[in-house]
Amino acid sequence: MTDRAVILIVDDEVSNIEIMSAVLEDDYEVCFATSGEEALKVAQTVLPDLILLDVLMPGIDGYEVCKRLKKDRMLADIPVIFTTGLNDQDAEVRGLSAGAIDYVTKPIQPVILLARVANHVELKRLRDQLAQMAVTDALTGLSNRRHLEQTLATETAKLSRTGEWLSVIMVDIDFFKLFNDTFGHPAGDRCLAMVAAALTRAVHLATDLTARYGGEEFVCVLPGRDHEAAALVAREIQEQVGSLRIPHPESAVGPCVTVSIGVASACCLPDMSPSQWIAHADRQLYLSKRAGRNEIYSTVFHEQEIGVTSHN
Ligand code: GH3
Ligand code: MG
Ligand code: MG
Repeated sequence: MTDRAVILIVDDEVSNIEIMSAVLEDDYEVCFATSGEEALKVAQTVLPDLILLDVLMPGIDGYEVCKRLKKDRMLADIPVIFTTGLNDQDAEVRGLSAGAIDYVTKPIQPVILLARVANHVELKRLRDQLAQMAVTDALTGLSNRRHLEQTLATETAKLSRTGEWLSVIMVDIDFFKLFNDTFGHPAGDRCLAMVAAALTRAVHLATDLTARYGGEEFVCVLPGRDHEAAALVAREIQEQVGSLRIPHPESAVGPCVTVSIGVASACCLPDMSPSQWIAHADRQLYLSKRAGRNEIYSTVFHEQEIGVTSHN
């Protein structure tokens, strides 16, 4: 494995690829394509960190390749630097308006190519880091509430087309204020991180999302899983948290940290909103708390109203 950035060089003249490759290969992983069509295919499979794109090529030219890259959600963020023998302003303006981030002219000057590539690779790295931070909860490393709400919206929209199941699990640590009061806030933070890790162990499908909803509340989104599958995950969450054996002497439930859980499941309908899903799961969580905590309550709902409740 390597953490070197991957550069895709696109040029219909192999000698140009060889020159650029020789300049870059000490610092980067280099891959290449010799036509616009091939460039789009390689970009999709390799997801490079930067593309050096020739403007003039037979078939689809560099401008068109760039436009298509920018229309593809997976590829739109990859910086594109145009490489061309044309040294005129019109070509430069056209390239930049097609979405390129920069421009280098051939014949290639190694120092300039290296400097431009290094700058844009670093900017891309920082952008990726920012984008990651924007969806991550700093304390636990789970998704944050913003990401949860976005995911819930996209998943409900997607699954409602086929009427597939979705389940949402809401988890809340029992008597957590007392835990903080007993051991202090830093210990509370460590407890939150451990519970988050336990949740991640319990929810292991790649399509699932585990998020910190706020304070000591977590939400798991399980696309394609019905109430029975979700109930298994909920029990697994309780077991994983239980097996942490984090002492909680002030808890009225038992000697260790426990969680209460609410589960909402439904076959997705187009007009179900993320806030409805959260409201249904939250209602079940409330019932778990009211029943004494360390419980799992779940519902299968069919309509807009808060639906039928069943105890697990
Ligand atoms: P219940 O069993 O009804 O859920 O009781 P609770 O004490 O867990 O719930 P309550 O809502 O009364 O208190 C939640 C506590 O969570 C209070 C707050 O100080 C603590 N908390 C919220 N966010 C954090 C955090 O980031 N770190 C720490 N250490 N504590 C937090
Ligand atoms: Mg709590
Ligand atoms: Mg709470």
